[in-house]
Amino acid sequence: MITWQCDIACKHCSQGTARSRCTIPDHIIITFIEQAAQIDCDLIGFTGGEAFLFYKLLLKINELCKKNGIKATVVTNANWCSTKKICIDRLSNLTAFSKITISHDPWHKEFVPPEKVANAVTACNLLGKKVEIATCYLNSPEAAELYVRKSLYGLVPDCINVSSQPIMWRGRAKYNFNKKDLFQYPILKCRCGASQTPLLTPDGTLYACCGAARDINNNNFLKLGSLNTNSLNNIFEAAKTNHGLQMLRLKGPGALANHLLRIGMDIDLANITGICDICIAISNNPSSKHYLSILANDDQFMRELAVSKLLFDYDSVPLSNFNE
Ligand code: SF4
Ligand code: SF4
Repeated sequence: MITWQCDIACKHCSQGTARSRCTIPDHIIITFIEQAAQIDCDLIGFTGGEAFLFYKLLLKINELCKKNGIKATVVTNANWCSTKKICIDRLSNLTAFSKITISHDPWHKEFVPPEKVANAVTACNLLGKKVEIATCYLNSPEAAELYVRKSLYGLVPDCINVSSQPIMWRGRAKYNFNKKDLFQYPILKCRCGASQTPLLTPDGTLYACCGAARDINNNNFLKLGSLNTNSLNNIFEAAKTNHGLQMLRLKGPGALANHLLRIGMDIDLANITGICDICIAISNNPSSKHYLSILANDDQFMRELAVSKLLFDYDSVPLSNFNE
């Protein structure tokens, strides 16, 4: 995440406004990309805020990625895409960026017309870059995809890739939506896709996920470390023995919460409405560190973790091509 800053203010944005002016300093981005290459990372996704507000920084990132043999992707709201020419000019310089993800849904559309999205899509197609439309929905994944296709109908090819996710009741979304109107799913049984995607914030802190971890203040077991004081390799090595995190990644936050409840930890799951609320509830317990450390010596927990890891590794083999 290169910046908290954004040029629009979507109603469903999961970010608060307090950090809105903070952008990643050069020394952190250089350290991050160089150290990522040293641990054989071959793909990094960049996001914001709005990353294209800092186009010169993206050019610098482009050079660093090329030098270190890393492919890049970037997420944008496309508000800068006033003409096809601007899109082609800017994107053609970003040669290390193989894919562009464009956020588009009813709340982005209040600020960014579909024509701008279409300009970006056309430029990507001309330049041979992959492109995806990422959309959010209130309570229906199918309706979200239909909305995107209708909004962009006739402007972009029908075969455009669309991904979708429910609105998270965090940040600005908390003020604009009722919890009860959000998409309902079996929270305690779900795995969390975002827990496989570590996030670096502009202050150099590395979090285990790209979800609510950056907003948890107390006992945050998802805060892995800081590039200001440690290397990326050391931070990831330490995460391997963060057994709570490993269980969460393999079986979901609900599975971790169940083990913690079993060994006597008090977790208030009464009012959770989103999967991230489980991680927040765990962290809010002042004794969470203590209970998480007990799990490292708990036979039932460690056995389940080992079996899940074996199954996950087995499952992962045919999925390895999905990294692109
Ligand atoms: S959702 Fe994205 S584009 Fe919209 S205000 Fe938030 S950071 Fe900006
Ligand atoms: S459920 Fe937990 S691990 Fe997943 S995104 Fe939310 S805070 Fe992060």
